[in-house]
Amino acid sequence: MKSCEVAIVGSGFTGSLLARILAVQGYDVVLLERGTHPRFAIGESSTPLANLSLERIGIRYGLPDCYRLATHGRWLEHFPELRRGLKRGFTYYRHHPDQPFANRGLDSERLLVAASPHDSLSDSHWVRADIDHHFVREAIAAGVDYRDRVNLTTAEISPDSVRLSGRRNDTPFELRANFLIDASGPGGFLARQLSIPSGLDATETRAALVFSHFDGVKLMKDAVPGLLEGPYPDDWAAVHHIIDEGWMYSLRFDDDVTSAGFLLTPRGIASLGSIDGASLWRKLLARYPTLAAVFADATSLMPIAFLPAIQHRLTRAAGERWALMPHAYAFVDPLFSTGIAWGLRAVERLALAFESASHGRPIPDQDVLTRYETALSAEADQIDLVVAGAYEGMAHFDLFAAQAMLYFAAVSFAEANQRLMPKDSVAWNGFLGVGDPALGQLPREALGRLRQITQRRGEAGTADERRRFAEWITRGIAPRNIAGLADPSRKNLYPVDFDALIEQHALLGMTRAEVLEGLPALRGMGAEPALTRDSARQGGLPVQHAELLGRDRL
Ligand SMILES: Cc1cc2nc3c(=O)[nH]c(=O)nc-3n(C[C@H](O)[C@H](O)[C@H](O)COP(=O)(O)OP(=O)(O)OC[C@H]3O[C@@H](n4cnc5c(N)ncnc54)[C@H](O)[C@@H]3O)c2cc1C
Repeated sequence: MKSCEVAIVGSGFTGSLLARILAVQGYDVVLLERGTHPRFAIGESSTPLANLSLERIGIRYGLPDCYRLATHGRWLEHFPELRRGLKRGFTYYRHHPDQPFANRGLDSERLLVAASPHDSLSDSHWVRADIDHHFVREAIAAGVDYRDRVNLTTAEISPDSVRLSGRRNDTPFELRANFLIDASGPGGFLARQLSIPSGLDATETRAALVFSHFDGVKLMKDAVPGLLEGPYPDDWAAVHHIIDEGWMYSLRFDDDVTSAGFLLTPRGIASLGSIDGASLWRKLLARYPTLAAVFADATSLMPIAFLPAIQHRLTRAAGERWALMPHAYAFVDPLFSTGIAWGLRAVERLALAFESASHGRPIPDQDVLTRYETALSAEADQIDLVVAGAYEGMAHFDLFAAQAMLYFAAVSFAEANQRLMPKDSVAWNGFLGVGDPALGQLPREALGRLRQITQRRGEAGTADERRRFAEWITRGIAPRNIAGLADPSRKNLYPVDFDALIEQHALLGMTRAEVLEGLPALRGMGAEPALTRDSARQGGLPVQHAELLGRDRL
């Protein structure tokens, strides 16, 4: 029987990237995929925190492509053949049934939050067929033993090893490993094998999905003439159209293909009375004239698909000799694009866990795995609370915009913190404010407050209730608001605001001079670091075992 040190099931970007990092560290890794590459995958819009993870991975392990794929400018320069889309920020519009989007200038139901100061530094939407294939090729080049078309049927985990078996090309397939990582996403390989109970009951968010890729989608700026200029061109962003039934994402790639999908609440789907993708799509466009105009000439490049429920959640994320990547453990919703960043954070955490293990024991010890599981559990809850609150807030755009500030405060603070005070152990910092004394509890309380206003029936509340909620959010995020968020004078149009950052230096625990010194890095004016295997050890700061166990926490 073939044996290896680490077996990874699933070759999405998290599986193949982790496989490659472990191979670079000297581990003998087998990566198993049930399908083949290139293949379509959903989950395309990256964020600054995702890119920070990619940069850290690139520097620490000497993987230049990871660093270069972390900004749109570097991606274009080094990998023009890998398809992607320019993502300058997060754009939101509120549409109402049977009415065109109301362009009321600065009073429009429109929110734009820039994520980058200019195009070259910006995030990208990933064409997953290309980028996942790229990471698999790089994993193979780094020495990973990659097997596709593997149909695994059993996993047995005993105190001294893991045994996998199944079939490959109709031939029996068996593998013995010291450690197993499940990166099979919603494929849920280990969940089935270990009969891990579902934890979905505790998840607040529920949504169905109707989606495809399209050609010929118009720009919002062409469908809504006279839109006021925002901090970046509206359409070169993760565009969110909020509707009564839920919301639609629209992600434009540079070759003008657009990935779009409706997320529909249980109430929303019930009001539509269909369960087939194409007819749901038609009915929704027929209700919203501006969306109908945007998609009037669009053709779907594959059948419009319907998934009645996209949330999943397990009660375990790790155990002796095994760990799940986040997408295998839990998924909430694409609202706020948390998946790629969270997945990459987990790649970093597990890579560090193996790195420290490789100096002593060959696999991560139970303490580190327990920390990993605890982190993922708290973070899945937090993502759910932020998203569930945003769904409640969709009852009125003011509530939604206020709730969104919670997300933007948490991520912009984390981003500035990581950029200005880089250290590799930040991979263990809680995602979305988990463990942060100022932000940690806000999402739960926000959801409670929103539900009081909406009565869980989508009621918009009074103007006074909405104002009080927005003021409460403003006070709540104040200790972490380094980005000038929740400022009524901005009229929901937020550029990247370095002045606010400098002004709020104390919130980061830094002097004004220290922030000023770090600004060139934030503006993308720093030189590319050395990115070779030899330089990797110097580039990455050593992470001590105590840090992996969380004993260095702030
Ligand atoms: C509708 C939707 C929209 C999303 N949008 C965003 C977004 O805009 N931004 C964002 O950050 N995140 C988004 N996400 C989340 C994102 O998709 C995930 O975070 C990401 O795909 C995780 O990557 P992964 O490599 O862990 O898993 P996956 O991409 O799910 O890859 C899993 C791999 O495992 C393979 N596999 C499955 N079962 C088996 C098996 N039994 N044996 C072998 N191989 C197997 C599959 O073929 C696949 O190649 C979205 C998710 C959904 C559902």
